[in-house]
Amino acid sequence: MRTLIALLLLVTGLAAAGAELKVAVSIPPLLDFVREVGGDRVEVELLVPPGADPHTYEIRPAQMRFLAQARLLIVVGLGLEWWLEDVASAAGNPDLEVVVTSTGIEAIDGDPHVWLDPLNAVLQVAAIRDALIRADPAGRLTYEINAARYISRILALHEEIREKISSWTHREFVALHGAWAYFARRYGLKQLAVIVPQPGREPSAREVARITSLIRERGIRAIFVEVQHPPSVAELIAAETGAALVTLDPLGGVSGREDYLSLMRYNLEQMEKVLR
Ligand SMILES: [Zn+2]
Repeated sequence: MRTLIALLLLVTGLAAAGAELKVAVSIPPLLDFVREVGGDRVEVELLVPPGADPHTYEIRPAQMRFLAQARLLIVVGLGLEWWLEDVASAAGNPDLEVVVTSTGIEAIDGDPHVWLDPLNAVLQVAAIRDALIRADPAGRLTYEINAARYISRILALHEEIREKISSWTHREFVALHGAWAYFARRYGLKQLAVIVPQPGREPSAREVARITSLIRERGIRAIFVEVQHPPSVAELIAAETGAALVTLDPLGGVSGREDYLSLMRYNLEQMEKVLR
């Protein structure tokens, strides 16, 4: 009996002392998912700060130190965080579990931006819930309740997007950076071409000419560009064809689109200005 009481005191003492579960995430949408599901039980560290490019990020020493003590490293996968590949072992932390949230999602070749389809985001939230329960079984009930509540809000967002897009008169677009294929597949839009298929590599003059004539032939109205990437080539193509630049944000974490739901509503509004 005395041992049991001592144990209970120890366990509650740990919780009270703020011994939260340490979790690292790669990008802002995953930060939001972990906060929604984990609440106060979890201490989260975001690796790629708002405004930075997750395709070319370099991890900082302080972040390595966090990883050395973290229990979970939550990523998208599909090659997005290639710079994290050896980090888990380099952190010298055998307790660190890497959670790849895109597992089980039907991948589109060369596009890791799965979270931009809200129904994929639901699967990612479920993967995060399960990982938190594995790492902290005592929090199971909290994680399950939080995840269920949050998933219902994502599903409501999905319905909202679906309903709005169903009445749009234009469905085709060209993208500067190939991030929108999952969103397009879910809602019946069509990403006809990507201007910069690999981040950091400029398209050839021939490729630019091909996309320019494609836009003219199909009467495409929208070129999707992103706040994280300079739109230079896209600006030229827009000027030449009369197509409009639609400035989107696949990552968020900044004022006005701090969390995933407001981020997706921002993107929907931006698209709507040109495609509806
Ligand atoms: Zn991207």
